[in-house]
Amino acid sequence: MAERVHLPIVEGPAAAEPAPRRRHPAWIRVPLPTKPTFFEVKQRVGELKLHTVCESASCPNIGECWSRRALTIMIMGDICTRSCRFCDVTTGRPLPLDPDEPRRVATMLGELDLEHTVITCVDRDDLPDFGGAHWAETIRAVKAACPTMTLEVLVGDFKGDTANADIVLDAAPDVFAHNLETVPRLSRQVRVQASYPRSYKILEHARRRGAVTKTGLMLGLGETQDEVVEVLREVAGLGVDIVTLGQYLAPSKSHLPIERYWSPAEFAELGRIATELGIAHVESGPLVRSSYHADGQAALVRDLRARAAQR
Ligand code: SF4
Repeated sequence: MAERVHLPIVEGPAAAEPAPRRRHPAWIRVPLPTKPTFFEVKQRVGELKLHTVCESASCPNIGECWSRRALTIMIMGDICTRSCRFCDVTTGRPLPLDPDEPRRVATMLGELDLEHTVITCVDRDDLPDFGGAHWAETIRAVKAACPTMTLEVLVGDFKGDTANADIVLDAAPDVFAHNLETVPRLSRQVRVQASYPRSYKILEHARRRGAVTKTGLMLGLGETQDEVVEVLREVAGLGVDIVTLGQYLAPSKSHLPIERYWSPAEFAELGRIATELGIAHVESGPLVRSSYHADGQAALVRDLRARAAQR
């Protein structure tokens, strides 16, 4: 899996480093949801018995995103087999896959009438294909229901098994996303059952297959700027098309603490460096998450697909 996780909205004054334990700086402040569209989306998600990473991960952007009908559906249940130390999704033994879920996902997205959307999943290390076939079925159902929408899949690492990643790639999502999450030095500590080289391998494989690829990092776990720039240099060298950089916000005291708040100016500087390194599109800011503002990127994705076809 996938998307970043965060504390619920906390209001507080601008903070200097080191980060206070309970209060976020002013630039993390987000409005509470009030628009009717937010509540309509929430109701429909419940009626269709779907899960979203927006809710499961307590994303601070939920008010903004759902108010414009942008959401990130999370498939294969809401229980993850992994226990990444930044993540708010429940860890445990998942339920069996729901064979009707692809149809309901397609129904929801058909109703929302979006130009672009992101779907993610919990990690399913309990399944022989790590959920590859269910992913493919979901992609096909969504493409049939939403033929003009571009679709981004934010997948796990398939334990490095590229054959199972191929099942997803064969279903032809428009963007294949997998998050490195953090710098190599911190990877094992942050993602206990994952590894940086394995994630790198999955991205490299997708890129070799000609996919439009995307990855993301959380900042604030103790990484240095040099380490972040080194990762950006690596993913630029790999040919990754889209990169997201956002601030890690600890979901609870039992998750990894926030070591540091990176300022908006620092995010802007990293975004500039990433662009200079040749990454085609960079989203860099404190509240950026893997799917933040992705709903407005259909034209970008079509352009990147056209470029990928010529590689
Ligand atoms: S940023 Fe992504 S996960 Fe967060 S609310 Fe928006 S769509 Fe959902």
